[in-house]
Amino acid sequence: MRQTYTDLFIDFDDTLYDTHGNATIALGELFDEFRLGERFDDVRTFRDAYWRTNVELWAQYSRGEISRDYLILERFRRPLSSGQHDDPSWPDADYCGRMSDRFLELCSVKPGVVEGARELMDYLRAKDYRMHICSNGFHEVQYKKLKACGLYHYFDTIILSEDAGANKPSKQFFDHAFRVSGASRERTLMIGDNYNTDIEGAMNAGLDTLFFKRWDPAFEPPRPVTYEVETLREIMEVL
Ligand SMILES: [Mg+2]
Repeated sequence: MRQTYTDLFIDFDDTLYDTHGNATIALGELFDEFRLGERFDDVRTFRDAYWRTNVELWAQYSRGEISRDYLILERFRRPLSSGQHDDPSWPDADYCGRMSDRFLELCSVKPGVVEGARELMDYLRAKDYRMHICSNGFHEVQYKKLKACGLYHYFDTIILSEDAGANKPSKQFFDHAFRVSGASRERTLMIGDNYNTDIEGAMNAGLDTLFFKRWDPAFEPPRPVTYEVETLREIMEVL
């Protein structure tokens, strides 16, 4: 028989919020504002360098290997230093800091959501699930992003790793999430797009999981997940 859930733990970035799409737009705006056309052949070269670095750094951050401050500067320092420049000290921390602040500012007001997100939220709300955001994103921008995309009011609790004192996939994060939400392990389902942080973390914490395979439909989870979908709409067939 299918399990009956009362609570849903839901990842925010790139599960509901189109973080990748919104950041791609913001990187284009940065490119113009900081006149990076003088250093890169085109915006795409700059963006590709940024994404390569960003993915690596977020994986390290989730594992607790680097700090937030290191991440936000380094994700610009590395791609910028691959651009054309004569000054070996460029870009310095001050320049990367200004770019990072402006980037977070530009990103935090972008409204884009993943296709089907609003419809799914309406559906789940009508079915009376209690919903909790479970996110490794930064405190200073997550609330702004939730409000900018109009999804804030669907959630009973916003659980951020900076408040938990630990990132997903750690057990400490999920223990904190259960304390704050009052949810029970047996009646909670974790929904997320990142196998390593959302899904494996939740499995280790004893939760059922729904893996949103947004990025690579061919990816086979190394450990069996409870449910997997390729679009948000399919979640309505499961819950
Ligand atoms: Mg995510």
